[in-house]
Amino acid sequence: MNKFEQLGLNESLLKAILDLGFENPSEVQEKAIPLLLEKDTDMVALAQTGTGKTAAFGFPLIQKIDADNRNTQALVLSPTRELCLQITNELKNYSKYEKGINVVAVYGGASITEQAREIKRGAQIIVATPGRMQDMINRGLVNIKSIDYCVLDEADEMLNMGFYEDIVSILSDTPDEKSTWLFSATMPQEVARIAKQFMSEPLEITVGTKNSGSATVSHEFYLVNARDRYEALKRLADANPDIFSVVFCRTKRDTQAIAEKLIEDGYSAAALHGDLSQAQRDGVMKSFRGRQIQMLVATDVAARGIDVDNVTHVVNYQLPDEIETYNHRSGRTGRAGKLGTSIVIVTKSELRKISSIERIIKQKFEEKSIPSGIEICEIQLLHLANKIKDTEVDHEIDNYLPAINNVLEDLSKEELIKKMVSVEFNRFITYYKKNRDISVQSSNERRERGDSEPREFNNNGAVRYFVNIGSRDNFDWMTLKDYLKETLELGRDDVFKVDVKEGFSFFNTDPEHTDKVMDILNNVQLEGRRINVEISKNDGGGRRDHNNRGGRRDSGRRDGNFAPRREGSGGGFRSDRSSAPRREGSGGGFRSERNSAPREGGFRRSEGSSDRAPRRSESFGDSPRPRRPRRD
Ligand code: ADP
Ligand code: MG
Repeated sequence: MNKFEQLGLNESLLKAILDLGFENPSEVQEKAIPLLLEKDTDMVALAQTGTGKTAAFGFPLIQKIDADNRNTQALVLSPTRELCLQITNELKNYSKYEKGINVVAVYGGASITEQAREIKRGAQIIVATPGRMQDMINRGLVNIKSIDYCVLDEADEMLNMGFYEDIVSILSDTPDEKSTWLFSATMPQEVARIAKQFMSEPLEITVGTKNSGSATVSHEFYLVNARDRYEALKRLADANPDIFSVVFCRTKRDTQAIAEKLIEDGYSAAALHGDLSQAQRDGVMKSFRGRQIQMLVATDVAARGIDVDNVTHVVNYQLPDEIETYNHRSGRTGRAGKLGTSIVIVTKSELRKISSIERIIKQKFEEKSIPSGIEICEIQLLHLANKIKDTEVDHEIDNYLPAINNVLEDLSKEELIKKMVSVEFNRFITYYKKNRDISVQSSNERRERGDSEPREFNNNGAVRYFVNIGSRDNFDWMTLKDYLKETLELGRDDVFKVDVKEGFSFFNTDPEHTDKVMDILNNVQLEGRRINVEISKNDGGGRRDHNNRGGRRDSGRRDGNFAPRREGSGGGFRSDRSSAPRREGSGGGFRSERNSAPREGGFRRSEGSSDRAPRRSESFGDSPRPRRPRRD
């Protein structure tokens, strides 16, 4: 007997499961399904992301729904539109051999009247995000007064996102006699509170250790100097040519900027954050699922619950503010029993956070160093060789071979191989030959080896910054110093050598404050204008010409004087620190470059020939900017 049959599932479900290709139930399915089928009960089920919770409630739900009755019998609440659509899709798959079951998805950002119409046609199961559901209830477009089942899926994420009140209000609109099934990866207090408040004697099942990370995810950190964060990201991508990853940034702005930089540097990347329209987000997710995007740069909120299989790496470009969020991030990889790696790019001042995370996930991090240029070249070269070996030949090419052979006939096999590989390799090796090593050892090691401080620091040990505010903003050196100390919450003597010019200023801090300066100042606004701070390459004021550079296109600055861009960076998002290999004369930045596909600094993947050929996106990345984000 099939394992699923043993759980008590009926014929039509077993058939659907066969189509899905599930061979054995996962642990949470094995535990939850028989209990839920056997009787009407409340249940709290705790299991890590990627353990198959959707089917754990979905299979019994489908089996228990009365297909002949058109009334709404079940409500599934889920945190995001993404997940809502995913669950709806899954439930449709589960019920495909069960005639007459209708599942309708209800979420923000799409026509509410259309959704209401679908429900009116008869939806036994509604899968909804809390915000939109509340909206529909308020407008009397939906009746959940006689449902039998309510599922709270990814309850911790929903509460994390601030849906507590919506959930309470929605539940109060449902009958007391219904069964409530709560599925969650973790059990924070709010989840326990919901359980206590709205469930009666729930059966509890727990898979794995509560709160612990998935065993299939290994955790690594790379120590770098703050200014090398982006370079580190690129190297990690270059050292993992098959990377398929979610890269987490802390703010929408960083998310957008990093994605744009990656695209500009030729990687197949895109941004996912709340300032994109739903259509744009859908486009991004579609491309990610289709693997046209290798690096999805996302905010925590936008990436909640993303369920894309085979994500190889989660990259914490910046650590989250709340260390608990780390778990949600790393849960995007290592799904469905696959192995995954969660990488943290970390600076010295954040190192202690690593130990806090270790305590929470009950797993140790491995400290690794950013691969050197030589190592990366080696990896890429082997990758290229393997790719050549594995490439399937389309016999269309036979027509062209005589002419090709003609050109190449004087070359020996050895020469031919060398040249062929060099076509792709030269650019890469040239780039890395020029570029310094950016790996940093943690301080203990450095101390033992008697090494000096990393080189971003100048002789007297201080770091000098350039900031785009000055006397025009009514600052003098004293008021600017006070402003900086206050904004950065620094002590009396922590900001020094403040040098105020008209449109910009310089100041110094000790290196230990660099991360703070970069992170905080780059995220504050002064009278509606974004502050931009950068580590200054020179150590005096004013020599650098900050005038008449192209303003950033998102600047909203009063004039173009504030953007300290390098000549020729063409209004794109390259920062002064960026040293990516770019095609000669490729000015004009991101926008105008999007049609030139090949990856610079990596190996060009010939367009169209590979199923993962990086394609530049026409529809996101550079998409027109923000509509107001919707919560769901
Ligand atoms: P969770 O909700 O716990 O994060 P999902 O329900 O989204 O996990 O499932 C994660 C992945 O595992 C999905 O791709 C799903 O199709 C797959 N999956 C679920 N159950 C099984 C199973 N019994 N066998 C194989 N794959 C499964
Ligand atoms: Mg889930």
